[in-house]
Amino acid sequence: MTSVNTSSNSPDKLTSNESVQVIVRCRPLSLKEVQQDYRSVVKIYSNRGVIEVENPKARTENERSKIFTYDAVYDEQSTQQALYDETIRPLVASVLEGYNGCVFAYGQTGTGKTYTMEGGDDIEEMGIIPRAFDQIWSHIARKTGVEFLVSVRYMEIYMEEIRDLLRIKSTKTHELREQTGEGVVVTNLHSHTCQSAKDMLKAMKTGNINRTTGATNMNEHSSRSHAIFQIKIEMMEGDSKSMKVGKLNLVDLAGSERQSKTGATGDRLKEATKINKALSSLGNVIYALAENSAHIPYRDSKLTRLLQDSLGGNSKTIMIANIGPANDNYDETIITLRYAYRAKSIKNKPTKNEDIKNGKLLLLQQEIERLKALIMEKSNGAEINSLDGEEEDAGSDSESEGFEKERKLEEGKMEIDELAKKLKALEKQMVHGGKDIVDSVNENELKLEQHRTEIAERKKREIEMQQRIEEEEETCTELRQVFASLQQQVDFKKEKLKRLNNKLQSIRQEIKDNHEVYLKDRQEIETANDEAAMNLRQSFLIIDNFVPSEEKSRIINLAQFDEDSDNWVVKKDSTKILPSDRPIAHNYRRPISDYAVHQAQTQPKYRSENILDLKLDMPLRTTQDYTPPSICPQIKALVNDVIKREMDNGHLVIRLPPHSVLGRSSSSKLDQEGKYKQALKSLVDVNSLKNPTPTKPTAPRSARSSYQLKQS
Ligand code: ADP
Ligand code: MG
Repeated sequence: MTSVNTSSNSPDKLTSNESVQVIVRCRPLSLKEVQQDYRSVVKIYSNRGVIEVENPKARTENERSKIFTYDAVYDEQSTQQALYDETIRPLVASVLEGYNGCVFAYGQTGTGKTYTMEGGDDIEEMGIIPRAFDQIWSHIARKTGVEFLVSVRYMEIYMEEIRDLLRIKSTKTHELREQTGEGVVVTNLHSHTCQSAKDMLKAMKTGNINRTTGATNMNEHSSRSHAIFQIKIEMMEGDSKSMKVGKLNLVDLAGSERQSKTGATGDRLKEATKINKALSSLGNVIYALAENSAHIPYRDSKLTRLLQDSLGGNSKTIMIANIGPANDNYDETIITLRYAYRAKSIKNKPTKNEDIKNGKLLLLQQEIERLKALIMEKSNGAEINSLDGEEEDAGSDSESEGFEKERKLEEGKMEIDELAKKLKALEKQMVHGGKDIVDSVNENELKLEQHRTEIAERKKREIEMQQRIEEEEETCTELRQVFASLQQQVDFKKEKLKRLNNKLQSIRQEIKDNHEVYLKDRQEIETANDEAAMNLRQSFLIIDNFVPSEEKSRIINLAQFDEDSDNWVVKKDSTKILPSDRPIAHNYRRPISDYAVHQAQTQPKYRSENILDLKLDMPLRTTQDYTPPSICPQIKALVNDVIKREMDNGHLVIRLPPHSVLGRSSSSKLDQEGKYKQALKSLVDVNSLKNPTPTKPTAPRSARSSYQLKQS
């Protein structure tokens, strides 16, 4: 996704109000229809842009035929070339000037939408899309001094899901996102850069093949899905640091026939409802735009959101309504023609996307410049190095130094080669205008194209003029008429009255028909509504009876509307672990879910081990811990006194063990015993005289005594 700042809101930009151009194309009777004896009920007046459809089931004169007027109509004999030159070529030319353009084909299955958009393999049979490729590339070939970056995307919308037709294996999801300046864009959609018309054609063919993969019935699938081919052309003139962007959407819509008519049930009906949804919301959008309604329901389907700019927005849009001529198709043909007629009144506001400062082409250009500078710098460095090397080679004979230099030189060269490769790859993406074209061919082609454009413009003007003349004839002939007699005037007025009466009757009939269609639509909507209400009641019944109320309110609190995916999503609950979390071991012997761990604290049924909490039954205690008896201070003093006296009198003999620490010293054993006695005496002195309280802890005392022993 590239972000392009179209700055379409700036007031100084020229925006013109422009209606959606609507053209109708009728295909020839097919072989099958001829074999079944069907006849054509469609009459086309190409010069006036008028189409008349005869009602095969007409009961009264008023019901006999219906007349519609469009910007242009194409009959059975119309060629692909004429349709392209007269209507599409000017649009593509606008896209090459930096406008957004859109062409979409609408109609019942089998009426020639794909034939009109893609066409056959023959040059004559080529449809709008490949012809647009040719026009774009011959324009590029002619534009000297302009850099182009052309890319295409191809997608399909089936059952409200978007599929990338150029990356069919991609598992990424595609959402619609509103981007400032860019409109509604599809996320993760592959954009394929093209260098020629051939590249584009290849992309289109790849996409078409991908469209069929996975579909059980190709025809059925393509008639139920919308294919959207997008071309983006970024253009930059000379050294200007801004560019223009032209975007073209080429849309082959799903068959407009009512899917429910086929009598589908179950999943099939659901599919039909979803397929109908996109087309009926397209109809609602067109209706709302035509009625200048305050709310345009673009958000009702992915298709309408994607075409948001093309319908009532920043785009030049052409709608091609395809019809079949057979009497059997009368009803569908009338529905298509009414639908198309309504689209005529949609007003768009196309704006040139110029002065864009942040496009992909600009980034590419900057990167190329950077790489070029880097290569230049590196190759200059390498040259100097190699010169140094030569000089030094002559002077010094240090071989290892020479090798080192050579290796560095080689490395530098490899780096430059790498950069050059990268540069080439980037440059390949960009196309320089005005290259590889022989001037005479160029000139001839240009002349031919101009000629075609002129013819197309003339034809368009003729149709407009003819339509205006007819309108004026209705109102002004009477004023210009000079009557010779009263009778003549009466006859003229009678004639006019008859004509007006016919018109009134046909308008009344149209109102009646429309009312019938409205009633039918309403009935269908009511049925769908009833069905939805029934489903809702059923869901409520299940929730009320089987879902605990606290769980229900928890989920309601967690539910949130996500604008991007246009759907309700359940937020992750941080306080409660959902049962769907993947089980892991959690130091247990087997994997167990977070939910079970959490629940196991209160409910034993979630425990995988130690299901029963068995603690030992301990008997009551009948004993007590030993506490030494406390000695009265007087007795203690008495005992100390006795010991002291005994030692003084020499009755108390102290014998040192043979391996005592003191024994290791050089002095005699007797000497040591004397010291020991001395020490013991002083200890008793200290205890009895200085500190007679027995509560004093013994450990420090012994520590001190051992210290005193060592000291002495
Ligand atoms: P859709 O895409 O609307 O379902 P297709 O484009 O597949 O219809 O057309 C159905 C058939 O009619 C194809 O065989 C196609 O070649 C043929 N056809 C459609 N339009 C024309 C036309 N203008 N001239 C000749 N053949 C046509
Ligand atoms: Mg088709």
